[in-house]
Amino acid sequence: MTRPGPRASAAPAHVPRRSLGQHFLIDKNIVHKIVRLAELQPGETVLEIGPGRGILTDALLDSSGLVVAVELDAALCAHLRATLRRRSNFRLVEGDALTFDYAQVPSPFLVVANLPYYVSTPLLFRLLEDRRRIDRLVLMLQEEVVARLAAAPGGRDYGALSIAAQFYCEVRQAFRVPPTCFRPKPQVGSAVVVLTPLRKPRVSVADEAFFFRIVRAGFAHRRKALPNSLRDEGFEGGPTAAALEQAGIDPRRRAETLSIEEFAALTDALLSLS
Ligand code: SAM
Repeated sequence: MTRPGPRASAAPAHVPRRSLGQHFLIDKNIVHKIVRLAELQPGETVLEIGPGRGILTDALLDSSGLVVAVELDAALCAHLRATLRRRSNFRLVEGDALTFDYAQVPSPFLVVANLPYYVSTPLLFRLLEDRRRIDRLVLMLQEEVVARLAAAPGGRDYGALSIAAQFYCEVRQAFRVPPTCFRPKPQVGSAVVVLTPLRKPRVSVADEAFFFRIVRAGFAHRRKALPNSLRDEGFEGGPTAAALEQAGIDPRRRAETLSIEEFAALTDALLSLS
């Protein structure tokens, strides 16, 4: 009798570490939906963050050129090395995706991943920094984070993450994924989002770093009117009032009501007055 060989998605003798966000996909239909959404072309390079037991990695290896996967958990890395050793287009990096140097991945590349939710926001900011080298990002995230990425002004989901994502990317919410598609089941709903980096930022600003300082300061005290939130973050009242007037923004408004264009107008007015 021949024994079946190891499969990439076979569960290793490994207890999932919730502290590392280990909720493994068990539904192949979802895996195929993610891969279809990525519209991978033969020869394209894919970066996967958190390959886990390799269920998505296996499908990515079938449809792309090189797959570079960054995994923090040493036991899962050993499992992946064993199960995927015959895949000549697989490169495994054992390490932390937050500190990994993405310049090591040949560009342009796609990012396709079921991200560890406990670090998804810093990872998103990190990936946005590298957006010029990335063609597309297809990401499974906590549903609430996808809502924040896609949020329009006016609601509680809208914040610095929405502005950063939409300033640099086209954001498309793709589909929702229920907790039953994972093991162990997460406590929260999940969703897949596609981010396509724009050739240039959605709005032009004289100083992008300053623009994001204003955005962060505006949302630091989101229940306060904009001048008060900015004052609490070290911006003097006089120039703020003059800049708001120059930009045509009512000083009673809160940050969550301002469009990206209005934040840009406020930034440029503050810079012109300084
Ligand atoms: N891709 C697999 C799947 O869909 O079944 C696993 C996804 S699981 C939600 C997240 C994976 O990210 C886990 O394998 C976890 O060990 C890994 N991980 C957690 N923190 C990480 C980090 N900072 N850098 C790289 N991988 C990380």
